[in-house]
Amino acid sequence: MTINRYTHIFFDLDNTLWDFRANSFAALKIAYSNFKIESQYPDYQNFFDVFTEINDLLWSDYRKKLLVKKELQRLRFSMTFDRLEINGVDPLEMDSFYLSEIPKQKNLIDGASRVLQYLKSKGYLLFIITYGFKEVQTDKLKNSGLSQYFTRIYISEDIKAPKPGREIFEYAIKSANARKTKSIMVGDDWESDIEGALNFGVDAVYFCPSANRPVPLDCDRIYNRNKVFSINALSGLYDIL
Ligand SMILES: [Mg+2]
Repeated sequence: MTINRYTHIFFDLDNTLWDFRANSFAALKIAYSNFKIESQYPDYQNFFDVFTEINDLLWSDYRKKLLVKKELQRLRFSMTFDRLEINGVDPLEMDSFYLSEIPKQKNLIDGASRVLQYLKSKGYLLFIITYGFKEVQTDKLKNSGLSQYFTRIYISEDIKAPKPGREIFEYAIKSANARKTKSIMVGDDWESDIEGALNFGVDAVYFCPSANRPVPLDCDRIYNRNKVFSINALSGLYDIL
């Protein structure tokens, strides 16, 4: 266990603190009802699963700059509609409705508020480094009650540098007046959050809640001179920080 080794903690937002999957499920359901898709395709669960699969693939292309934002927004719905043979709904209208509902959702990952309260009371400075659209990320924090814990939020779209590139970590750590050796990144995406931080020389906590997702290493290992911890619930942070 390390005591008071760190001063600055950088969190990923989606699926680390804010339950993207549950919130996307709820927001998409409102859009699905609003555009009366049920009359053409009554199985909402399957609609959600197909959309999620397509959305994840497109986001991965968007990260690699193979797509621009507008294409991502149009394609994630036009491809879902094509696959499920849904007609008469404008993909961009559906997207803008979905995007307006998403930040109103408030489901958090189990234990998020409690652990943030604890970390704040121990004097750590807390930050967010997130990948997403700037018009939704800030509102997600505000509406879900998370913003009170954070000194600042760094959004890749604002900084024009996606995770896992070193630019966003460099920018965040510099402007937070942090030191690399006193900083730690917490996130659920191995490549973006964990490798991104490690490659920049910052320790990391890999949050891997799903038992069937492969954990590439044991807890508390040295990786390229930086430490990596692995937790399967946010409450695991009490043992590390
Ligand atoms: Mg995430």
